[in-house]
Amino acid sequence: MNYKECYNRGKGALAAAGVPEADLDARLLLEYVCGTDRNTLLVHGDREVTAEEQSQYDTLIEKRAQRVPLQQITGVQDFMGLTFQVNSDVLIPRQDTEILVEEVLGNLHDGMRVLDMCTGSGCILISLLRYSNGCEGTGADVSEKALAVAQRNAAELLPRPEAVSFVQSDLFESVEGTYDIVVSNPPYIATDVIETLMPEVKDHEPRIALDGTGDGLFFYRQIIKDCKKNLAKGGMLFFEIGYDQGEAVRLLMEENGFLEVTVKQDYSGLDRVVFGTLCFDA
Ligand code: GLN
Repeated sequence: MNYKECYNRGKGALAAAGVPEADLDARLLLEYVCGTDRNTLLVHGDREVTAEEQSQYDTLIEKRAQRVPLQQITGVQDFMGLTFQVNSDVLIPRQDTEILVEEVLGNLHDGMRVLDMCTGSGCILISLLRYSNGCEGTGADVSEKALAVAQRNAAELLPRPEAVSFVQSDLFESVEGTYDIVVSNPPYIATDVIETLMPEVKDHEPRIALDGTGDGLFFYRQIIKDCKKNLAKGGMLFFEIGYDQGEAVRLLMEENGFLEVTVKQDYSGLDRVVFGTLCFDA
């Protein structure tokens, strides 16, 4: 079988399983298995695929047809121009979250200390440290398995791995020290809504990374209240939020001593980030 036949077979199988963007994923998996790129596949469609590659490709197509996310099959996801390792223990970094990182970067000055609450793969914290000078950071997560992934990513992607530490903690419980910035993309999907999501998300990504309990706001309430233990007066708190949570989170922050609370939209014009400054007498 050649590239083109293999690809067509893969594409057909994924389309039949209802995989969105079946063409793209069939191609990316073929590139992954054959260690090749888009142009080679396109120009050399008649090149023969080895029996081993073909059987490996079939296995991966079968997995993807079962709606396992592409990134859990290839083991990687790009975020902020960096390649992060991922597995089923962490939320796959989303492009939307880059808006949060960019907003923080605009306020992160040389030498500051930053805490990433619910760090997951570590994508937020590691990007912040990679694109700043002399900053130090801590990633906190309740999941030890997630922290193992974050640690691998930090070792791989940070030129100064000593600038980062990770702590297993139920929110702020085991976090020590004072930070200039606290950032978080916490689980924010209301429990009822999870069942309506794509199978890739609801069946394969970690529930604890998604579930924001009843109204989806549980972690915002907790973090806004508890962060004061570790956030410097005059320090800033940044959140990613769901498209319909901007107003609620803004109010929660204002009621809890945060000033200049701002809601920012993503490129689709949807509310995506909320941030504010902790008042000196909060
Ligand atoms: N901080 C990680 C991310 O943004 C994980 C977030 C989560 O698990 N809710 O991708």
